[in-house]
Amino acid sequence: MASDLYEILGLTRTATDEEIKKAYRALARKYHPDTNPDDAEAEKKFKEVAQAYEVLSDEGQRQQYDQFGVIGGSGQTGFQGAGGISDIFEAFFGGGSPFGGSNFRQAGPPRGSDAEVLVTVELEKVVLGGETTFEIEVSIACEECEATGSRGEQAPGECATCEGRGIVQEVRQSLLGQMMSTVECRTCGGYGSIILDPCQKCNGLGIERKKKRFTVGIPVGITTGVTQRLSGMGNAGPRGGGVGDIHIRYQVNEHERFERVGDDLYEELWIPVTQAALGAVLEYQTIDSVEELQIPPGTRTGERVRFRGRGVPRLQRRGRGDLVVTLIVDTPVGLSKEEKELMVNFAEMRDERTTDKKSRNRKRR
Ligand SMILES: [Zn+2]
Ligand SMILES: [Zn+2]
Repeated sequence: MASDLYEILGLTRTATDEEIKKAYRALARKYHPDTNPDDAEAEKKFKEVAQAYEVLSDEGQRQQYDQFGVIGGSGQTGFQGAGGISDIFEAFFGGGSPFGGSNFRQAGPPRGSDAEVLVTVELEKVVLGGETTFEIEVSIACEECEATGSRGEQAPGECATCEGRGIVQEVRQSLLGQMMSTVECRTCGGYGSIILDPCQKCNGLGIERKKKRFTVGIPVGITTGVTQRLSGMGNAGPRGGGVGDIHIRYQVNEHERFERVGDDLYEELWIPVTQAALGAVLEYQTIDSVEELQIPPGTRTGERVRFRGRGVPRLQRRGRGDLVVTLIVDTPVGLSKEEKELMVNFAEMRDERTTDKKSRNRKRR
């Protein structure tokens, strides 16, 4: 088996995903068994190409291969390159993939951390959509040294302890015998190299802090606690390490009129007793439209009017919730003399006992 997967595809380590795909397609066509019947050499080549592509087209596997020249773990692809490290991993991790989910980090500069920002929005923007602008301080590549961490032209020297790998193997004595483990190199902190002439601005870190301003579209339908990720906009890792994400954590302000329950909105609407008794048609302002609100004659407190689809848009789905108006009959207060007289007469007509003297006297027979 050829020792280098890139060589098999006729590429170098800097090949892009697109180049890998292209090379694979061309070679697979060239060595395909259909076009090369009974050609053992072509069949072997075809298999190699397919296996090389399988590894290099998978981001995780490619990284592992780049780092160690080995693809180990549960896949058992069986590529054995420079190190023979997979044996050690198998001994230590019990044969499982040492990469997924372990706290082991890749050698080289570490990826920058994620940054989080809290953004407060009004309900109107949750319904109608809109933009929010915020400022956040993040690590960016040092402008002085362009993230290299070095002051001058002098390139960082390879770490002698780990020979540039960023990791070292340690042998410990345990109850079970010798245990082999792989740990971050203490000499270089996992970078694999040592800065010989540090940049004065960033002290060799290759990053500096800077306030950045972002304007992002608010996803409609969000609730408090929903987060939005801005991929690769967070903190730059030191010395050219990958860039983390920004997590926007949303908080939706309470609305002065509408109470939100899920995607539905609720409002209590106080209506005068005359409208409740006789019925009425009102102009009703929803969060984004004007609707006709029908109050049927004889409406009682607690009765509801539902406006379908006038609530909050459903997050990442079609449709909107409802707007539910609960009617509350308002008792008239501060009656004028004339109004009071009308009320008394009204009570008399309906033979309803009130504390007003006139009606009380009449009712006590
Ligand atoms: Zn610098
Ligand atoms: Zn080292």
